[in-house]
Amino acid sequence: MRTAKIPEGFHPYKKGSLPEKERAGKVFTLLRKEHSDAKIALNFNSPFELLVATILSAQCTDARVNIVTPGLFRKFSTPEDFAAASNAELEAAIRSTGFYRQKAKSIIKCCTSLVVNFGGQVPRTMEELLTLDGVGRKTANVLLGNAFGVPGIAVDTHVSRLAQRLRFSKQTDPTKIEFDMAAVFPKKDWTMLCHLLMSHGRKVCAARNPKCDVCVVNTLCPSAFTFGSIRQHNTKESRRRKSKAAGGKSY
Ligand code: SF4
Repeated sequence: MRTAKIPEGFHPYKKGSLPEKERAGKVFTLLRKEHSDAKIALNFNSPFELLVATILSAQCTDARVNIVTPGLFRKFSTPEDFAAASNAELEAAIRSTGFYRQKAKSIIKCCTSLVVNFGGQVPRTMEELLTLDGVGRKTANVLLGNAFGVPGIAVDTHVSRLAQRLRFSKQTDPTKIEFDMAAVFPKKDWTMLCHLLMSHGRKVCAARNPKCDVCVVNTLCPSAFTFGSIRQHNTKESRRRKSKAAGGKSY
């Protein structure tokens, strides 16, 4: 049900007007043009730094993580340094990112595993990355896509919301959303797709008050001008994510 006022001359997208892969391709092209500067927001100089930064970014803004990591990496620069750190000193260094006790534990365990099982290197496969403490599919896909050039769909809160509003997925579970998106977008575009959706989610399609009137994909979006009838974050899902982050496991 459309609850917002539809501008004169606007033709809402009719479900099934285009094959889904074609609609996905058009959405990607338009977002690519609109957000030509889209890229990962976390600063890093190596796969290892990106791993630590991504763990810190759970329930925290990327901007805050970028403030914390330069000092952190001056103090602890290798997996060995982190593995040898005490909980208290690491907690003090990452405190402002929130959930710092659990994050410190996860980073120390993760780095211990890097040293013991992977020769101090960040592994390059989803399967191996998922063995690390604090690493879930989202973090693994961030690593694969941005550190190793292996396409991955990292489903964060923006990607999840946009996938639902654009109706590329009806799911709320991030893994199911990832697989739904992977079925309609070409693999080569997966990593950039995430940057574009995150950028669009921050600037245009915000959780509250999406700016459908200025959205470049509004004619391809089944949710255009329906704000008010869209279910916002499922509170159960939201609680699950917070609890997972507090438990040190990214989704
Ligand atoms: S801003 Fe509106 S039209 Fe654009 S993706 Fe979000 S819900 Fe759809």
